[in-house]
Amino acid sequence: MKLDQELEARLAGLRAQGLLRELRRVDSAQGTRIQIRGKNLLNFSSNDYLGLANDPRLKQAAVRAIEKYGVGAGASRLVCGSLAPHHELEEALAVFKGTPAALSFSSGYATAVGTICALLSRDDVLILDKLVHACIVDAARLSGATLRIFKHNDLNDLERILKSTSTKTILRNPAARVLVVTESVFSMDGDEAPLREIVELKDRCGAWLMVDEAHAIGLYGERGQGLARQLGVAERIEIQMGTLGKALGVSGGYIAGSRTLVDYLVNRARSFVFSTAPPPAVAATATEAIQIVQSSEGETRRQTAWDLANLLEHTADAEGMKIASPDSLIMPLMVGAETQAVELASALRERGMFVPAIRYPTVARGAARLRITLTAAHTPDNIAELVHALAPLVHRRP
Ligand SMILES: *Cc1c(COP(=O)(O)O)cnc(C)c1O
Repeated sequence: MKLDQELEARLAGLRAQGLLRELRRVDSAQGTRIQIRGKNLLNFSSNDYLGLANDPRLKQAAVRAIEKYGVGAGASRLVCGSLAPHHELEEALAVFKGTPAALSFSSGYATAVGTICALLSRDDVLILDKLVHACIVDAARLSGATLRIFKHNDLNDLERILKSTSTKTILRNPAARVLVVTESVFSMDGDEAPLREIVELKDRCGAWLMVDEAHAIGLYGERGQGLARQLGVAERIEIQMGTLGKALGVSGGYIAGSRTLVDYLVNRARSFVFSTAPPPAVAATATEAIQIVQSSEGETRRQTAWDLANLLEHTADAEGMKIASPDSLIMPLMVGAETQAVELASALRERGMFVPAIRYPTVARGAARLRITLTAAHTPDNIAELVHALAPLVHRRP
């Protein structure tokens, strides 16, 4: 087959650059220990930050919902697939986020694509932080809006672009809208966006702001409401987005904002309108996760996770390794070369530890890293094991 021949050549190219990716089959539930190819590995790669993905209460919520509502939603939300658990989830989300309304999607990816494309069209301008997630970049391309990128977390660059954009677009098209999109906690570096200052800037320039809290929801702020809430600027952000698949331990994405925004997205977000509603049990499980995240148990879990992050930073430092992220549970060990990152990850697997090598195109070329993620379910002993395995490997590198 000609197609396969051509694709073989492309795959060989990826392999030669250390960029080939393959699926690894996991034969266990998500957790700090996972089973891969008969090997039990200590897992430092999961976004299940609060250790909820295999929680018995979530499983029970799923089973109860399956018994009552079955497995499939049967249709899209706007036809006959808008089941009670979807509505209960959206009510719980709005209360949790402290917004008038919320809307759930089948994934965070679908949320970004549906929302951005519903809000902007060819005549508009989209301004993105250089390091935003691929789903936002894809949404930007699909929207057809003019795309401008500001240097990562660089307020001066954002201000420069906002000012030049507003003069240019007003001259060309007085009705042009400008939307700034950033993450609150960045997915591959774990650093925070200066949201207070970004809010000031966008208000001054008359732009809208969308903030993706994928790695902050459940972890930051009182009751885990996110970084925007912690910084006291949530009310001034037009569009708050996040995922239900990370700290919340389930699956799906959401938008939190005004009732008008949600009513509009129900009409116009194509990934919402033209897709079968997520299984009602998934919605019911996410609602249960939101209750746990907001409770005092959620607070304890957050504290445990932060304590472990501190412990890892200090233990690694004592071994001469810099694994630091001042702000988050995403703790990258920078490596640089793609092939070296892959070798390190594979040496760690031989020692019973699963830490992913993150490479281009997820991060820039030559910025490969081991991305260690901690969860509330890890223990201090797990951290000691990791550092003990990692230190000799890192120090042996040329
Ligand atoms: C994971 C992630 C998403 C996508 O969410 P899914 O629910 O996994 O589709 C969006 N934005 C950021 C920043 C993410 O890290």
